[in-house]
Amino acid sequence: MEIHEYLTLDTGTGSISCRECGNHIANAEENYKKHCAMAIDLLTEIGPGFESPAELLDSDHDVQFRRFYCPNCAVLIDHEIARAEDPILHDIELDLHSL
Ligand SMILES: [Zn+2]
Repeated sequence: MEIHEYLTLDTGTGSISCRECGNHIANAEENYKKHCAMAIDLLTEIGPGFESPAELLDSDHDVQFRRFYCPNCAVLIDHEIARAEDPILHDIELDLHSL
């Protein structure tokens, strides 16, 4: 079943796979992002209009623009903006038994 634009879940095996190439990325109970290839850039790398966080916020936190790619075909699966000290966001949590 489709669980994300670029991810599919096999409800029988609990395998999360890339929809582009079929590569197994993670098991259902895991944070799939931890198994992706990750690129970390400055917020200004997003494009025009994205200022340095020091200019936008009254903060000295290092803010990252994280991109997550399929480790097999390199399709861009997702991205997030977070402070450098923040863990990778676990934004898709699946309860396989309820499916
Ligand atoms: Zn892939």
